[in-house]
Amino acid sequence: MSMDRVVRLALATALGLLVFLALISINYSSKPSAKKPAGYVILEFDDGYAEIYDAFKIMQKHGYTHASLMMPTAFISPSTTHRQYFYDMCGDDPWVCDYFETLSYAEIRQMVDGGWDVQAHGVSHIPLSTLDLKDSTDYRSFMREILTPKRVLKEWFGQEPVAFTPPHLGLTDEQWKIVCQHYEFVVRRVAEEEDALNYVFDNPDERQNMRAFHVFYQGFDEQMEALDRILTKLETEKAVVIILIHRVSDQDARGWDITTQELKELLSLLEKHGFTDENVINYSILHQLVHSEEWST
Ligand SMILES: [Zn+2]
Repeated sequence: MSMDRVVRLALATALGLLVFLALISINYSSKPSAKKPAGYVILEFDDGYAEIYDAFKIMQKHGYTHASLMMPTAFISPSTTHRQYFYDMCGDDPWVCDYFETLSYAEIRQMVDGGWDVQAHGVSHIPLSTLDLKDSTDYRSFMREILTPKRVLKEWFGQEPVAFTPPHLGLTDEQWKIVCQHYEFVVRRVAEEEDALNYVFDNPDERQNMRAFHVFYQGFDEQMEALDRILTKLETEKAVVIILIHRVSDQDARGWDITTQELKELLSLLEKHGFTDENVINYSILHQLVHSEEWST
């Protein structure tokens, strides 16, 4: 072997080693992972509390422009000086309630212009399962609760809702069948860690049987640990995880609210798993994704 060849061989080996080292360093240093996750996340904010406007701003700061607001149509405030109120429980005692301010039309408009959508959560937030469909007055109330959002939200915000989350997640089987005739996506219950992934792409039946993973103030850390494992699965599995949030408040977070700090932690967890604005979506985008796939096959 000539001296020249030895030098060239040594150089080639060194170069190969450098490339190898560069590759493994890329592999281990780049966090969040550069690879796009296979699945999608929807942050669903129920009930339209006024503080959700702050959540919208916090999400924007993190580069997340999409989320779904499940807004009872009677809760939409005419303006910030003419608020509607959600008369709701203050804490665990079901007999102690108070008035909670709800979002104004202009605030929701801004959120919709920023990329959010407004989906159906009834009109007045009455528990639908208490309505007896054999009673004509109850039947009319039920139909009003599920159909009015389609009309009002379309007229006010220009988008017909495609998703329905029943207040208190309560529907009888008979009621659920009627809701399924009018909405493409229906949230049926709270998710366990084991069934938090909704396989809406491969299995159309799942679209009206969705489970939402509830995050809230009580036990937030354990929920984040579970969500960490759920999002790891979602990096490689084509499914959608619904994260259910109520009010975001630092003053008087109830057991089922979260604080702004907790919202930021949740967003950091999404970032850690490589979820960008492209994979953190809302129900309108999910509707498009599900169908663009069906049209192309
Ligand atoms: Zn609700």
